[in-house]
Amino acid sequence: MKALVYRGPGSLLLEERTRPHPGEGEALLKVDASSICGTDLRITAGSHRAYAGNSGRIPGHEIAGTVVETGDGAAASVGESVFVAPNYGCGHCRECHRGQVNLCAEPRAVGITEDGGFAEYVLLRRDLVDQGNLLRFGDGTDPAAVALAEPLACALRGSRACRIGDEDVVVVYGAGPIGLFHVALARLAGASTVVVCEPNVDRRQRALAWGATSVHDANLEELQAALEDAGATRGADAVVVAAPVAAAQGQALELAGPGGRVNFFAGLPRDRSRIELDSNLIHYKELVVTGTTASTNDECRAALHLIVGGLVDVSSLIDARFDLASAGDAFALAGSGRALKVVIEP
Ligand SMILES: [Zn+2]
Ligand SMILES: [Zn+2]
Repeated sequence: MKALVYRGPGSLLLEERTRPHPGEGEALLKVDASSICGTDLRITAGSHRAYAGNSGRIPGHEIAGTVVETGDGAAASVGESVFVAPNYGCGHCRECHRGQVNLCAEPRAVGITEDGGFAEYVLLRRDLVDQGNLLRFGDGTDPAAVALAEPLACALRGSRACRIGDEDVVVVYGAGPIGLFHVALARLAGASTVVVCEPNVDRRQRALAWGATSVHDANLEELQAALEDAGATRGADAVVVAAPVAAAQGQALELAGPGGRVNFFAGLPRDRSRIELDSNLIHYKELVVTGTTASTNDECRAALHLIVGGLVDVSSLIDARFDLASAGDAFALAGSGRALKVVIEP
């Protein structure tokens, strides 16, 4: 089978690999769509912890496909179309028992700690299959749209942490795919106003189409004025920081109103994650400051439901589709910032 293999910083090579055979409890998936994520760009650049040296691993963790072969006793059937919830844990620690596999001490993820979806086939391990990570979807839904259930699930985890409700006034930093998902999810949760802060003009336009009520540059006074216009004179009910920018995390605490919820959705660069924040803003406004990372099966199921049910129309995010042979072009486009989502259809 053809596969994109990581061979060190800057080199993701198309190679011929032996098609894996599922052992007991395992399943083999024919990949129908696998979308490129910011994480894949970091992997390719050589700055992802799980991809040290010349790992020879296949990335790709936003996957939709068809089960084509199963091992004995696998909880999957040949012919079914599935979305792969990529994160799974050891299955026996406290976090796993609570369903928070993303917080497992030994987290595993397809395309991160083992071979992923930028290949014609991907082998799904027994623990992953047994933990219920294969989520079925019916015919008639575009697999490329289904693959986007992964980033949507991550956004959903962050959005839920903000407990957004009816008539809430929300601020979202960043209007990349994740920021746009946050805008849509805030509106679905009942937010009357979603103020978006994004430097890129094209992305600002997209945010308006996704339900933002106003779009701005990172100017604190301008953002505060937008909140006042929406009647939130003392600040926003929720602020999501979906951009890896320290200054935005500081601004989020300023923009949140009394009792406001803040989600640091995006991580900061590893070597620059120690920053100064005014903790009295948290104290005196009784802010709830949260962080979320990755997603669990629960959010993946909910995200898939939102996509299949048409509640979040992700098709407008898919700017281009490529086959494996054109993966170089696909990654160049995804890395250029000119496209929101680029999908590989092996
Ligand atoms: Zn992703
Ligand atoms: Zn665990």
